[in-house]
Amino acid sequence: MSDEYPGLGDRLLQIKGGIADACRAAGREPESATLIVVTKFHPASLVRELAGLGVVDVGENRHQEAQDKAAELADLDLNWHFIGQLQTKKARQAARYAHAIHSIDRERLVDSLAEGDRVIDAFVQVNLTDDPGRGGVSPTDLDRLAERVAAAPALRLRGVMAVAPLEEAPESAFARLAGYSERVRAIEPTATDISAGMTHDFAEAIAAGATHLRIGSAITGKRPEHR
Ligand SMILES: *Cc1c(COP(=O)(O)O)cnc(C)c1O
Repeated sequence: MSDEYPGLGDRLLQIKGGIADACRAAGREPESATLIVVTKFHPASLVRELAGLGVVDVGENRHQEAQDKAAELADLDLNWHFIGQLQTKKARQAARYAHAIHSIDRERLVDSLAEGDRVIDAFVQVNLTDDPGRGGVSPTDLDRLAERVAAAPALRLRGVMAVAPLEEAPESAFARLAGYSERVRAIEPTATDISAGMTHDFAEAIAAGATHLRIGSAITGKRPEHR
């Protein structure tokens, strides 16, 4: 394996240890939390190195970048998780490489994904802030959107996703998310997953029941400049 990214393996191990500790503290099995390494803005070569370290699940938030990397790394058996804002007109393209889309936030997006020819995992993103400009469906519209996803042939409703607001303690935000998860489960009993927890709040997310952690910078190091 190349050594282009010194410290990557150590940081990965450290975060895996932190996840295992947080799971034990919450009375959960470490295997109950899936680590998705968020590789946005980093080159495909870093993703390849992660794969060599045993990483299977990677997260990206921009369609063009994700599509390019997935094509370049098609020889690897990676699960690509799309976690960013997705334009309706790009949805069908994203569904070709994505194993899961965590950012389902409106009915039009569901409609463009509903008839695809491969089934992908779908998380409904919930907005935990009062600012409608932030990502995610408002809790008021959650049930309707979840019903729509559950009825879409090419989508498998897995559960809810959220980003903790900056202006609130993650514990209380994730507690609300756990309540939204229960509402979605009442619609689709198999949709038990919760995608939550990033570099600075994954332990709180695990305590609140997160099953899919989206962790970037703690593992990859600082992201290169936004372009
Ligand atoms: C970038 C990003 C992450 C990872 O953030 P880190 O703080 O680097 O761990 C997780 N979720 C979403 C939606 C993101 O855009």
